Amino acid sequence: MKIKEQLNYIEQVKNKFTKPHYYYILTMGCQLNENDSEKLCGMLEKMEYQKVENMKEADIIVFNTCCIRENAEEKLFGKLGEAKEFKMKKGTIIAIGGCMMQEPHMVKKITESYPYVDLIFGTHTLHKFPEDLEKVLEKNKIQDVLDIDGEVYEGVPIKRQDKKKALVTIMYGCNNFCSYCIVPYVRGRERSRKQEDILKEIENLAKEGYEEITLLGQNVNSYQGSGEEKYGFSHLLRDVEKIEGIQKINFMSPHPKDFTDDVIEAIADSKKVTRIIHLPLQSGSTEVLKNMNRKYTKEQYLTLVEKMQKRIPGIVFSTDIIVGFPGETEQDFEDTLDVVKKVHFEQVFMFIYSRRKGTMADKMENQVLEEIKHKRFERLKQLVESQIAENNQKYIGTVQNILVEGKSKNNDHMLTGRTDTNKVVILEGEEDLIGKTIPIKIVSEHMWYLKGVKS
Ligand code: SF4
Repeated sequence: MKIKEQLNYIEQVKNKFTKPHYYYILTMGCQLNENDSEKLCGMLEKMEYQKVENMKEADIIVFNTCCIRENAEEKLFGKLGEAKEFKMKKGTIIAIGGCMMQEPHMVKKITESYPYVDLIFGTHTLHKFPEDLEKVLEKNKIQDVLDIDGEVYEGVPIKRQDKKKALVTIMYGCNNFCSYCIVPYVRGRERSRKQEDILKEIENLAKEGYEEITLLGQNVNSYQGSGEEKYGFSHLLRDVEKIEGIQKINFMSPHPKDFTDDVIEAIADSKKVTRIIHLPLQSGSTEVLKNMNRKYTKEQYLTLVEKMQKRIPGIVFSTDIIVGFPGETEQDFEDTLDVVKKVHFEQVFMFIYSRRKGTMADKMENQVLEEIKHKRFERLKQLVESQIAENNQKYIGTVQNILVEGKSKNNDHMLTGRTDTNKVVILEGEEDLIGKTIPIKIVSEHMWYLKGVKS
């Protein structure tokens, strides 16, 4: 069913309500899931549901799940236990969607062990949420999961979380099949949105006052637009650059193998594209990278970093690293430390390898002992922290343009924002600075954040 018909459904569902209805949504996982949740919120609010921050006040509870990490399952089961109480007391509708619902063994477990769940929907059927919800309201239990690649739907209502920064998904799915990753199985093969639709969305965002855009995709730099002429990620970056009002462009996540010269040139020519590039390393060992099916070597990764540093002065990097992948030897791990020492990442998202059912790596026999994985993780963490402290020193005394995002979570009297390189900056100031970009002098560093004063 197409979006127009879904919008008609919204009208029908909405007319069933005679009193205010409330929804609670919990999003797990990455920014793509956050963007999906913004669409779920958009559809629910079109149906005149209002958002609440507490599960107990809700008439419908939605869990938008992720299946990348093992603890996501435990988290979901814990939350389902909490939600059951409200189901029993007042008949709250419980819906679960997202990546985890694309895994047949998880759907089986939910239907058998949590029979009070009303609606299970997948990543390819998210746009049908109004139709599915209407069936649930008619007292049905619904399972709406497709195991084929979904189409790209435009025009799904959206309720954005922020007023200045917006997430824009440009493509869905992934073709890479990294051996540890479940994403290609749950999100399907790569499908790109048409460039006209993406640019229209961003132009509208700029008109609404949005200043910062994050282009999202599982493998964002393999974006392929439509039409007869070849249109790739570098073209999209150049076209977004031209949109008046947009001041900053981020993208997440690129794959090192797809970082072609035209993309590097587009970043170098840009005044808006972020100067912190997230370049997932995963391992510094060529052998482990091969087993991970990453399609680049340690040397190719380092050459790419060097090329970008030469072409784009001031560029810095963040990365993801998995410690303890099957077969990782001490020497392999040393190679990872070596890359970390050479690149001096601004930020490293470190993960201890955990087995994911359905992936190639789960079937590998040479799994690394937990104790070894944890010891290596600690060594990596120490190295990363010492480098971050060192990197932070170079900010002290500099003036940075900071978009003030809001009040600091840890100190209500302080404001928070980020540098161009994504460092958190805490500063004193009045609330009317929120949403403005202002020059801030950095005066001290505190490992995970910098402190600044108005310059
Ligand atoms: S590139 Fe690899 S890690 Fe990233 S989503 Fe695709 S398969 Fe997963």
